[in-house]
Amino acid sequence: MRRMILAVLLALLAPGGHAKADNFPSRQITMIVPFSAGGPTDAMARILAERMRTTLGQNILIENVTGAGGSLGVGRVVRSPPDGYTINVGHLGTNVANGAIYNLGYDLVTDLEPVVMLPSNPMVIVSKNAIPAKTLPELLAWLRAKPTPPTAGTAGAGSGSHIAGLYFEKVTGIKLQYVPYRGTAPALTDLVAGQIDIIIDQTSNSISQIRAGTIRAYAVTDDKRVESAQDIPTTDEAGLKGFHMTLWSGLWVPKDTPKDAVAKLNAAAVEAMNDPVVRQKFERLGLEIPRKDQLTPEALGAWQKSEIAKWWPMIKAANVKIE
Ligand code: ASP
Repeated sequence: MRRMILAVLLALLAPGGHAKADNFPSRQITMIVPFSAGGPTDAMARILAERMRTTLGQNILIENVTGAGGSLGVGRVVRSPPDGYTINVGHLGTNVANGAIYNLGYDLVTDLEPVVMLPSNPMVIVSKNAIPAKTLPELLAWLRAKPTPPTAGTAGAGSGSHIAGLYFEKVTGIKLQYVPYRGTAPALTDLVAGQIDIIIDQTSNSISQIRAGTIRAYAVTDDKRVESAQDIPTTDEAGLKGFHMTLWSGLWVPKDTPKDAVAKLNAAAVEAMNDPVVRQKFERLGLEIPRKDQLTPEALGAWQKSEIAKWWPMIKAANVKIE
């Protein structure tokens, strides 16, 4: 009998994700941002993490693991223990497009568990100030007339800025020469310095430089203007009708993470996105918070699969080279 009690006690104390999930989280959580600090993915993750900390009662460390269009950072999460303490902040690029470009060594759908959809952000077509164009048709004419392919900064093959570039090439017939960075923060620095011609950037990243007049904005890739930048026309208004793209984001954890940990992370992120202070910060960056029915792990999983079906054929047809 005594031996049996001991066995039961040992089983209760035994380590193992499922047994421990009840008191999750009991230590610091790491959010892996797969792009540079100071860029759009990083900025959103920091606003979110700051508020999630309050709900979860644990510190959330942001770690920027950059390179190869964010695929290195996601790989780090896939190989982490499935316990909810390492989270992938990803988006249409890292968690959809990269599967059609890189030989990842992991499966974006079966090796990760979706947690929650995060805000989406329209892109904005921006150029260095040295380009004389003032409107989108003038910019397109300038790009077409350039004897060598115009340079477009991206956060690497497969990143949001790169997919937007591929889509732009398809719609306009203009051939771009991509210049890859570890995120659009360093790409933007080079645009301000006049080292590259354009970026099709996330609005949240470019907005402060547009306001400061250090770069020029031509159009946001959406059917409605951005609340916080009403003077920038939409692509429909500016002459590229139908060129719409919003970069949605999400959180994932390694597969086999206990359901309870996924639910707690989801609830903390949802609470953060419902907080008026957080909402205001997101809105200022032109970020759109998902609808209530989009905020379950299942909704993110289904959305990711539908986006794979939509984007992979176009990306594969573009025959993207990895720099
Ligand atoms: N999310 C951006 C992109 O994919 C990169 C970044 O966050 O720096 O273009």
